[in-house]
Amino acid sequence: MTAFSVPHVVVLAGGVGGSKFTLGVREALRRTGAPDATVIVNTGDDLWLSGVRLQPDIDSVLYALGGQNDTVRGWGRAGDTERVNEELQAWGAGWPWFTLGDLDLGTHLARTGWLRDGATVTEVVERLARRWPLGVRMLPMTDTEVDTHVLLEDGGRLHFQEWWTRHRATLAPAAFENPGIENAVPAPGIVEAIAGADIVLVAPSNPVVSIGPILAVPGIRDALRTTRARVVGVSPIIGGRVVRGMADVCLTAIGVETSAAAVAAHYGARAEDGILDAWLLAEEDADAAASVDAVGIRPLVAPLWMTDVDASAAIADAALRA
Ligand code: GDP
Ligand code: CA
Repeated sequence: MTAFSVPHVVVLAGGVGGSKFTLGVREALRRTGAPDATVIVNTGDDLWLSGVRLQPDIDSVLYALGGQNDTVRGWGRAGDTERVNEELQAWGAGWPWFTLGDLDLGTHLARTGWLRDGATVTEVVERLARRWPLGVRMLPMTDTEVDTHVLLEDGGRLHFQEWWTRHRATLAPAAFENPGIENAVPAPGIVEAIAGADIVLVAPSNPVVSIGPILAVPGIRDALRTTRARVVGVSPIIGGRVVRGMADVCLTAIGVETSAAAVAAHYGARAEDGILDAWLLAEEDADAAASVDAVGIRPLVAPLWMTDVDASAAIADAALRA
């Protein structure tokens, strides 16, 4: 990448953390010219509920980049109401602990209709992305349904959404699984985008249930390992803690300590068997730089609080310069 060409950037992202970061990437690229970015979004959170297909991470990115998200509540559509949800509850349909906004249900109905008409998930996402200018290309990680399940220590099995939203991750998890993922293939365009990228950024998303499923789609990890692009990750851990959400419970379940260095080591160095060339650490974790370096990943230190678009853009800029 020269100072005058706009780099082709690929971002791997989950929902809220992923969309805040992708907003920053778009902003940072806009300052250098026309943004040329592809965001590959986790679909492990997807589920069927009351007959409609929900794609929480896809919709978080769609609404945030399209300027339609509820920035106060942190999820869903701005100005949404819950009239249909009240009716569903009165019928005893759906899940009483899972709110579906009216505007949000419009998205789910549109998506479900297109799926029923035979569109692939990639085609559905492409259609959703046409309504508001996103400024980046959005791709689902795969067209195959590979919803995340949580295996509990007591032997039970739950859909990830039930474990996360209803039980707030309080039931001890033994493992996370994406049934059928071994037969899934990357969505059309993903392998080419990674191969043709100048830089791949791993958003500060949940390493286990957001980035984990993306990396588990056969072919994506290999594409990351063989691309000529640099692969740079951004830590979702600041000062030894997750910023929001319950990613620490997920990390503990797979035997990874909740620290910036342990998450970097979990992703691993490309020179070894992993996917990272460099890792952005928060200033609060600057003393972890040596242990990141020791596993063969170049440590970089920057402020990592995504408090607003400018802060996210500064983080994206630091990653792009890596
Ligand atoms: P989800 O799918 O909505 O859960 O969102 P993601 O998986 O994309 O992101 C969740 C992760 O984002 C959590 O593990 C948080 O630690 C991380 N995160 C949230 N806000 C920030 C922030 O301001 N800075 C950093 N570095 N990480 C953040
Ligand atoms: Ca998610």
